[in-house]
Amino acid sequence: MERILTEKQLREISKYWIAVLGLTDWNIAININHKGDMELTCVAGEVSYSFVEREVQIRILHPDDYVGGPAFLQDMEKTLVHELLHLKFDHVCHPKGDLNKHHHQLLNDMAVALLRVRDDNEASKRITAEVPNG
Ligand SMILES: [Zn+2]
Repeated sequence: MERILTEKQLREISKYWIAVLGLTDWNIAININHKGDMELTCVAGEVSYSFVEREVQIRILHPDDYVGGPAFLQDMEKTLVHELLHLKFDHVCHPKGDLNKHHHQLLNDMAVALLRVRDDNEASKRITAEVPNG
């Protein structure tokens, strides 16, 4: 699913996910960056953080720089949730910060699952609201 959002929308949506994931004790900055302003290459998003300071920088790739093709549409909300999940899992799974592709894949799967639950909940709320009385 393709979800293209503005920086303002991402920051608004992040409040929901930060609350759901129990990350309200972190100071989280979220920006949309062009690829030249990303630390990593060929990523849809990245996160850097200090566990001690509880400071987080999340950078989501600007849609103009996204290269995915029809099978890999850009979902900026999924990327946001993926980066937030790093805050929960990195220190548990890889204390030295040496992450492998399976770690990122796990976080991707979890992000997809969380978004699906949220979207299903919203869909069922809409259905309930549309049922006429009587
Ligand atoms: Zn990752």
